[in-house]
Amino acid sequence: MSNPNWKIETNCIQAGYEPKNGEPRMIPIIQSTTFKYETSEAMGKLFDLEASGYFYTRLQNPTNDHVAAKIAALEGGTAAMLTSSGQAASFFSIFNICSAGDHVVSASTIYGGTFNLFNVTMRKMGIDFTFVDPDCSDEELEAAFRPNTKAVFGETIANPALVVLDIERFAIAAHAHGVPLIIDNTFATPINCRPFEWGADIVTHSTTKYMDGHDCGVGGCIVDSGKFDWMAHADKFPGLCTPDESYHGITYAERFGREGAYITKATAQLMRDLGAITAPMNAFFLNLGLETLHVRMPRHCENALKVAKFLQQSDKVTWINYPGLEGNKYYERAQKYMPNGTCGVVSFGVKGGRAAAERFMGQLKLAMIATHVADAHTCVLHPASSTHRQMNDEELIAAGVGPDLIRLSVGIENADDIIADVAQALDAV
Ligand SMILES: *Cc1c(COP(=O)(O)O)cnc(C)c1O
Repeated sequence: MSNPNWKIETNCIQAGYEPKNGEPRMIPIIQSTTFKYETSEAMGKLFDLEASGYFYTRLQNPTNDHVAAKIAALEGGTAAMLTSSGQAASFFSIFNICSAGDHVVSASTIYGGTFNLFNVTMRKMGIDFTFVDPDCSDEELEAAFRPNTKAVFGETIANPALVVLDIERFAIAAHAHGVPLIIDNTFATPINCRPFEWGADIVTHSTTKYMDGHDCGVGGCIVDSGKFDWMAHADKFPGLCTPDESYHGITYAERFGREGAYITKATAQLMRDLGAITAPMNAFFLNLGLETLHVRMPRHCENALKVAKFLQQSDKVTWINYPGLEGNKYYERAQKYMPNGTCGVVSFGVKGGRAAAERFMGQLKLAMIATHVADAHTCVLHPASSTHRQMNDEELIAAGVGPDLIRLSVGIENADDIIADVAQALDAV
């Protein structure tokens, strides 16, 4: 169900699924690989994309589609698909419009997994990337584009650098070159930022983070704004604007228009061939997370700001990075794009470098040591002794992850308890 007049809180609860008379109130888990048809003609129409319906869960499943429709409503998009992980969403979002010989401009401050996907794996497929500092000059941004550039990519709030992207500026640059802007909106969530309102064309999510919110299921999502005019740049996007021989000669942009072409192609081609589908059970759990997203996000931001203010006045802390904190390099930009709050992730340095940071970690009782971020439970990571332990101090500093850096993902427990835990661990340093 959806209603254009509903506010986002209502869509969190109501959008995407409307039970008819006597049907289950909750989105049913359609735990079925296949779907039955009376005649092979009826099934043939599905294969030709002449009728909509389900035939095999490697491509599409009704449970997943209800949840994807809810996320589309939250972002203000026209179509969406779930993927089995955020990594799959990032990959599909680009691979849907790029092939060997193409090029993408990406912000350099992106999630490490996305950086490896782009810089190593997708390069092996013949797709090239230019990484730009998100705060580069207009000339530097302009110089990154090539005739074969097909997309621009960035994160609303970068994980873990906590850089806030100037989405409007990147959208204008992308559109001047006739290509879409793809935004990974994982950390902000549509509760705090809706990139389509600032000119982005495609949004991706690792739903594993705040959307799920409970350490429950790995997943991803891609949402289309329905605004990018593929046909106006048909020479750049032959996959959408010329017949797909692997799909009975359908031209997606003609048959499904701006609103549906991109997601239909991603489903009919990429999901069919690569099969990174979400299990319907995981989609069900994701929906439970979405129903409370609008209640949880403000609490994450409120708690993170309290923790950030506490850290700011501690003499054991050398620096603190939280875009919601006044004085932060990105505070003004965050106020523009995310006036109601940014996210729950804070990073800071402990006086005494690597040894002090390790001691701090060892003393924490409530905050769990985990590589995860962005969920209800407060968790913490010291990259120098875990995810980045193969690097020496010089390499860590060059990578922007100094040996003293602690990443704290503030959960929705009572803020006083989180601060008390951090305080007693700092006292031991
Ligand atoms: C975690 C994360 C991803 C990758 O998502 P997975 O669900 O772990 O595959 C992508 N982007 C951002 C910003 C993330 O935090």
